[in-house]
Formats: sequence, structure tokens, C-alpha cells
Amino acid sequence: GVTIGVLALQGAFAEHINILTRLKISHLAITPLLVKTPDDLQRCDALIIPGGESTTIALLAKLAGLLEPLKGFVKEKPVWGTCAGAILLSEDVQGAKKGGQDLLGGINVSLERNGWGSQVESFEAPLAVHGLRDPDTPFNGVFIRAPVILELKTDPSRPPIDILARISPPLLPAVGSGSVSGSENGDLLDDDRTVVALRQGRLLITTFHPELTRDDRFHDFFVRNCVYGG
Ligand code: GLN
Repeated sequence: GVTIGVLALQGAFAEHINILTRLKISHLAITPLLVKTPDDLQRCDALIIPGGESTTIALLAKLAGLLEPLKGFVKEKPVWGTCAGAILLSEDVQGAKKGGQDLLGGINVSLERNGWGSQVESFEAPLAVHGLRDPDTPFNGVFIRAPVILELKTDPSRPPIDILARISPPLLPAVGSGSVSGSENGDLLDDDRTVVALRQGRLLITTFHPELTRDDRFHDFFVRNCVYGG
């Protein structure tokens, strides 16, 4: 079996636990675990960092003595970050709303917090996701003050980045009322800002919230591909 922790300091951790509890992968016993302390983390084979407020999560992690253990965990084990979790797994945050939070790093991207706009500009979009079970059924992407990935960086010393989903180009100018701009030129399919889910080795980020749907296919993907590498 496999113990999958969910960082439970702030944000949508209960929703991840619910999906993990229901997830059925043949012959595999999945034990979900709320992670609040370094001891909890040590029991985990993999970790999910939920959506919420990345600044708050980082601050609470520091207070709980979890920051350094988390940085170590990310270097060795499978980790998936959703929305705020994706911010924490990025190596670099840019723009006015940077937030100054400690980052765990691990994923070679730079991103912008709240890059799609404010809470009222939250939106949902059907996504075609590469590698999910039942690939012809779109995945409903729920974007809530989501980060925008600004740039994928190549780092030859790290595993390659595998783009799993892009937001379909017509949505980009429509929702990009915040700082996403300049999309009128060039091919949006080559624009890093359209990338909303990617995998880099054992690490996975989604800028949206699969835990806020009833669709368990991303959790299934994480366990099958990042945890078991198959
Ligand atoms: N805007 C949040 C942050 O910067 C992320 C929002 C979310 O997780 N829904 O951390």
C-alpha cells in the first residue's frame, strides 16, 4: 500500500482527502493522511499540497517546523501541488503580488500569483488532459485566483517538463483581464501562459483545483504515474 499525505495547514485539504478515500486503483491500498507535523510527513510516501493561500500555507509550515522537511521531501518523493500548492512547488514567483512567501521549489517554472484576476474573475473551463484515464472526456478545470505559469525553463540537470494540459487559446484573452496581456501576437499554443497542468518527473502541478470536482482522474494519474511511475 501507499500512504499519501495531504498538507493540512490551510486550504482545501479535506477535499483531497475525500477523493483519495474514494479512489479505487486495482490491488492498491491507498492510505490518506493529514499532514500537520514533521512526524506526519515522515510517514508519507507521497504528498499533495492543496489550494488555499500560498503565503499562509508557507507561514504556517514555517511555524510548524515543516519548511525544511518539506523542501527535503520535494527532492525525493512524489508531490502534487494544486493552485496555491503549485505556487509553492515553483522555483520563482514574479509580479506585483509575489507575496514574499518561502517556496519549496522543485518545478522549473516561474509563475504569477492571481494572474487570471481576482476572486470574482474565477472561472471554469473544460480541459483536454494528456494521460488521464478516459481521455476523451474533458476535465472541468476550476480556477480560483489561480496562478498563471509565465515561463517553463529548461534545466538539463532535472527531468524534462511534460505539459499535460493547456487552456484553450480563446479563453486566454477573455479571462486575462489581470496582468495576462499581449496575447494578441503569436501562436497561443506556444505560449507558456496557456499551460495549466504539467509534470516534471515525480512532481505534478495543476493551477486549477481537481479536488473541487467529483472527478478523481487527476488523483488516479498522480498515483499511477508520479507515485508508481507507470
Ligand atoms: N491566490 C492564491 C495564492 O496565491 C491561490 C488560490 C488558490 O489556491 N485557489 O496562494
